[in-house]
Amino acid sequence: MEHLLGTGVSKGIAIGSVLVKKENSSDFLKKSITDVAYEWNRFLKAKEVGKQQLEVLVQQSREAIGEDEAQIFEAHILILEDEELANLIKIQIDNQKKNTEWAVHEAAEHFAVMLEGLEDAYLKERAHDIRDVAARLIRILSGADKQEIPVLEEPCIIVARDLMPGEMIHINKELVMGIITEAGAKTSHTAILAKAMGIPAIVGAEGILGKVKDHEIIVFDGEFGSIFICPEKNVLDQYKQKLESMNSQKKELEGFKDKASVTKDGIKVELFGNMASIAELPGLIENGAQGIGLFRTEFLYTTQASAPTEEEQFEIYKHTAEKLQGKTVIIRTLDIGGDKEIPYLGLDKEENPFLGCRGIRLCFDNIEIWKVQLRALLRASIYGDIKIMLPMISVMEEVRKAKEIICEVKAELKNSGIAYNEKLEIGIMIETPAAAVLADAMASEVDFFSIGTNDLIQYTLACDRMNPKISNLYSQFNPSVLRLIKHIIDTGHEYGIKVGMCGEAAGDARLIPLFVGMGLDEFSMNTSALLEAKKTVTQISKQEMSEVVPEILRLKTTNEIEKYLCNLA
Ligand code: PEP
Ligand code: MG
Repeated sequence: MEHLLGTGVSKGIAIGSVLVKKENSSDFLKKSITDVAYEWNRFLKAKEVGKQQLEVLVQQSREAIGEDEAQIFEAHILILEDEELANLIKIQIDNQKKNTEWAVHEAAEHFAVMLEGLEDAYLKERAHDIRDVAARLIRILSGADKQEIPVLEEPCIIVARDLMPGEMIHINKELVMGIITEAGAKTSHTAILAKAMGIPAIVGAEGILGKVKDHEIIVFDGEFGSIFICPEKNVLDQYKQKLESMNSQKKELEGFKDKASVTKDGIKVELFGNMASIAELPGLIENGAQGIGLFRTEFLYTTQASAPTEEEQFEIYKHTAEKLQGKTVIIRTLDIGGDKEIPYLGLDKEENPFLGCRGIRLCFDNIEIWKVQLRALLRASIYGDIKIMLPMISVMEEVRKAKEIICEVKAELKNSGIAYNEKLEIGIMIETPAAAVLADAMASEVDFFSIGTNDLIQYTLACDRMNPKISNLYSQFNPSVLRLIKHIIDTGHEYGIKVGMCGEAAGDARLIPLFVGMGLDEFSMNTSALLEAKKTVTQISKQEMSEVVPEILRLKTTNEIEKYLCNLA
């Protein structure tokens, strides 16, 4: 038995057999060959395997995300079966007497470069798809395809160096009992997605890949980060018991589904949901989300080879608004950069990506892409209570510039006779200390605030949210962070606007009483946190909590505050 500690990021006990996901790689060697028939045969076989993989992806994305996303992989199948591509690969093998990997690369580049030279923006973008298909074939040919998450046949715990958001979306929730990665920290997107999908997960488990093999038994606790490889019987029994008691707790929480989220002294508290993919919507509604407080739109951009069209986005926003039947849907415009990347944007590598061109900064640099999103959002705004939220605001000029651009897009729509909600609210995320300090000025120019604690903590404490080495410093119980939060809420209220919270802290049952006491108007969280949050709300009195807020904010250390709040619970 071996014991390891990582950062628990998605609650739950997982007991099961390991499936190691190794690194993806499409590197290959250029080799001379003599047997051209053999190389051609290798291509034909790889093509068949590639087709099978893509068919699975079509199916998975259709179920998990939607028809539009499934079409990306359908298009890849068409590329794979393209005769011209196959002919050119054959010519490369026959004439150049080089290995299939190289022939595939050369042929794909030929077509990709040709497409890139065209005027038509849509066809230009197809170059990415051809390169994607070629990379898949090369992975298969070089045996690296086994390194992707294979099609699962039985329940397992995935152990990986890291999982990309695109890979997470394709995970089969029914069969993946848990996820452990070496990289990442509490609020990396792998962690957020695992939580949203209700899969127990640990990140930052350094060195685990060197310690486990496929099919070995692992037990882990997704809350506390404890991992046991090949556990002894007593440990296994102990965790089985824990799992059983968690299951009965889960049952108890189910009873809160239809209860109102009202405090003991009769104050209604709005509990909203965060969504990072369209697949999460039914779960949020089922668990009683009273609105969507954060619709992370990044998945629309990261799960396909090119930027989503206005029409694709419009359909998704409209669908979400309609499903919410008039309840609020706060859609955050593209927040890429930091730990989230989009290959087709060709972003420069930055020394400090979290302090670099991310969020609204990046949208201003890619204004056409942003305007497409704004058009889609405005068009969808007549189908429900959609609100626009701007991420990563740090200075007033950004708020003003963003509002000007939104006005421009509105004018364009008006000139074309396209309807939108004239009263659509525009809010900002308060996730930088600069925005928090300037909350009074910001509040006078926007309709609402939503506190993004994930980033607010990292920027306030100068502590990278992705770095496991300093994860002890990164805490939502930190007094500086909590004082800032109080300041944001008070200032927002002074200026008559609503203040919500959509960072992970909003779903932390230990902190909810404090935030209720501070007067936070709306809490937005992952599906898995909704019912426990409701239970917490029904057990506290807002009046009593507001009386202890000053006492809590006088405490000087993270530990003191955490201890105080845990004793309250
Ligand atoms: C946040 O920073 O708190 C937030 C909700 O945004 P994200 O986690 O997507 O950066
Ligand atoms: Mg953020």
